[in-house]
Amino acid sequence: MKTSVFANKIEGSKTLAVTARVAELRREGKPIIGLGAGEPDFATPEMICEAAKKAIDAGYTKYTANAGILELREKIAVYLQKFGSRFTSAEIVVSSGAKQAVLNALFATCNPGDEVILPAPFWTSYPEQIKMAGAEAVILPASEETEFKITPAQLRDAITDRTKVLIFNSPSNPTGAVYSRSEIDEIVKVIAESGIYVISDEIYIELVWDNVETASLCAYPEIAGQLLLVNGLSKAYSMTGWRIGYLAAQQPAIGAVNKIQSHYTSNACSISQYASLAAFDLDSAVLDHMKEEFTHRRDYVYERFSKIAGISVPKPRGAFYIFPNVAAFFGKSFNGTTLHSALALSGFLLEQANAAVVPGEAFGAPENIRVSYATSMENLQSAIDQIENALGLL
Ligand code: PMP
Ligand code: GLU
Repeated sequence: MKTSVFANKIEGSKTLAVTARVAELRREGKPIIGLGAGEPDFATPEMICEAAKKAIDAGYTKYTANAGILELREKIAVYLQKFGSRFTSAEIVVSSGAKQAVLNALFATCNPGDEVILPAPFWTSYPEQIKMAGAEAVILPASEETEFKITPAQLRDAITDRTKVLIFNSPSNPTGAVYSRSEIDEIVKVIAESGIYVISDEIYIELVWDNVETASLCAYPEIAGQLLLVNGLSKAYSMTGWRIGYLAAQQPAIGAVNKIQSHYTSNACSISQYASLAAFDLDSAVLDHMKEEFTHRRDYVYERFSKIAGISVPKPRGAFYIFPNVAAFFGKSFNGTTLHSALALSGFLLEQANAAVVPGEAFGAPENIRVSYATSMENLQSAIDQIENALGLL
């Protein structure tokens, strides 16, 4: 028996694979420190957990509207207003995580053979999701010199008659790059001129450091009809397991998304939706505490990695990743094995430093490794000590 052509052209998630490998090695008794997973280490805030328990007791355990409960869509609409949004609750579909929201957006906009412009480094799921939608990724490489951000001229040059969508992700997974407001102004001009759709994945927009002045694409009325805005509760509220993401867009895109979702998952988990109502009412001190922690950790990991001989790395301005260039170690050998790639170097670090990172190949950046600092200071200190010592063996 053979699996489908569709299944055979998709690769499994490389980030989830690292997390699974860490779990396996730990079961074997290895003291692996995980810097692979892109998920906050904080517990989900108490108030959200309490709201979930109440939702079960109140019997909110049945199907909800496909697009999500109205109360949640209303809260999301109000929340987005702080970024300049005019989306109404009718222009929002709640999904089972932001990952589903991105796929919904691609399904709703792409025809077979359409081109989707994808700036690299990119989040590992985008190219696979583009293939799932039958479209073709056109990779737009952004270099370390521009802090991994594409330029408006680059975007303009990449747009062809076949371009349907741009995927835009700021703050970025995996680089931590954040486009400034003025940079976004310029990118938006190109989007407006060209008439293409833009899927703006803003899942890390609450996690911006150094007071960088940035913007959501929903602040630009001139592209309101072209925008499919993705966000979710996983990262900002430490709710990765609850699976709540959402998409905001005008008609006809939002209607298409609603229709598509109605046939493959229907509503996101009812209990998680009710719990999410509480997330929007959280005391800002709870979120500020997490953000402060992340900034300390960012400062620490940046200082440490930028001092390791052979590594170059721009300062990440948001999300919880740092993306060092490790190409200087390629061609070096250990115990008779020569390390030719970030993949090989990541394997070496797993073996010799007991530290799990994600190789840049997962993100279209084969000279880099992604290190997540969504773990305790203690873990970060030990892991970077161990990485530094291991690199010293090469
Ligand atoms: N977009 C980006 C850029 C991400 O890093 C993630 C991480 N999981 C997602 C979307 C998906 O988030 P969720 O857990 O809500 O599906
Ligand atoms: N997005 C996170 C990451 O990049 C979680 C894993 C995943 O869904 O890819 O690690």
